[in-house]
Amino acid sequence: MKKLVEYIPLAFVFMFMACDNKAKTENAATAESDNMIFAKGEKITNDNFTGTAWLNSLVQADSINQNAVGSVTFEPGTRTKWHAHPAGQIILALDGVGYYQEKGSPKIIVKKGDVVKCPANIPHWHGASEDTKFVQIAITGREKGETAWLETVTDEEYHGKP
Ligand code: MN
Repeated sequence: MKKLVEYIPLAFVFMFMACDNKAKTENAATAESDNMIFAKGEKITNDNFTGTAWLNSLVQADSINQNAVGSVTFEPGTRTKWHAHPAGQIILALDGVGYYQEKGSPKIIVKKGDVVKCPANIPHWHGASEDTKFVQIAITGREKGETAWLETVTDEEYHGKP
């Protein structure tokens, strides 16, 4: 029969294993939340956004396929200005929690897996919620011209009730 003291080193081994497992679990959770299909791309430097957003241009429109496709990552609190797309836009929500609002309607909450079809020439904005980032794929028709950028989304509009 072993003395209790001989088990002490073993107890330390188990303690370290437990700590290591905890670290692995935390790392896996972090990796999962960052494990996006598309890289977040380049920081957007134009003034069409309030806050910090990132763009990965995935597909350029051309004469045969006139949709531009891009992945946009909005940091919490970030949103576009009001704007309108002459040929509309489809938003595929990849991650996080965001907002979408058309002029004259309440904003809606958009979550991972949601799809929003935004009609041609309807002023709207989209972005992240206050506390959570939002990642979207935007498919934007370019056959009828460029996006028309409008006024800034005020804090009152941004924080408005869904
Ligand atoms: Mn849009």
